[in-house]
Amino acid sequence: MRGQLALLTALQKVDDQLRSLRREQQALPRQLEAPRCAHNEARKELESVQVEIDRNERQQHDLEMELQSTQDALDKVQRKLREVKTNREYSAVLVEIDAGKQQMTCMEDQLLQLMEQAEQKRQAKGVQEQRLRAARDVLQEQGQAVEQASELLNQKILVEREKRRQTAVGLNADLLEVYEKLTAQNDGSVVVHLNDGVCGGCHLKVQPQLISEIRLQESLHTCPHCRLILLWPAECPELEG
Ligand SMILES: [Zn+2]
Repeated sequence: MRGQLALLTALQKVDDQLRSLRREQQALPRQLEAPRCAHNEARKELESVQVEIDRNERQQHDLEMELQSTQDALDKVQRKLREVKTNREYSAVLVEIDAGKQQMTCMEDQLLQLMEQAEQKRQAKGVQEQRLRAARDVLQEQGQAVEQASELLNQKILVEREKRRQTAVGLNADLLEVYEKLTAQNDGSVVVHLNDGVCGGCHLKVQPQLISEIRLQESLHTCPHCRLILLWPAECPELEG
């Protein structure tokens, strides 16, 4: 029986290890959250710069059309100048020409401003494209690192599974059943050890009578409080034969 109890402890150790490896594996995708977020952010910023560039192009186009029609109107007024008969008419047309020219100058200034802004936006787009490429590289590298780490954990899990199989083979079927049932009900170790008269699972005091029985290691005992399998500590030196 003593050997069987030792096997239970060994099985629990392997299962603890398996659980920890699986948790580690499940946590891996979280490592990709930050670089994925940075990549999305960079893409959004690039898109918004592109929207601004498109808007600027439309504004330039509209202004160029307006400029053309103002120029046409001005040409028409200037032709009218040759046909005027009176000084009064002449002065009025001159005023009209002047206003048209002023309007042209104003629009040309606006166009120039838009062109300068377009140049700035193009430079900003270049910077954003670079940022996006860098963020993509980081995401890709991190993705590969996570994949490798996961593969490594898979290998470790396979090794532990084989260890588990070999350990379980030597275990009495009834003991294994008790262990498996408890494991299915609990989210942690189900084999715990006595520690200074206290249960290693729930940390509550155990009656001296039960302690003596556990010490004998002749049958399986469970903690009366937490119902986990309660064993005599393996590393503790025997007090009696
Ligand atoms: Zn307990």
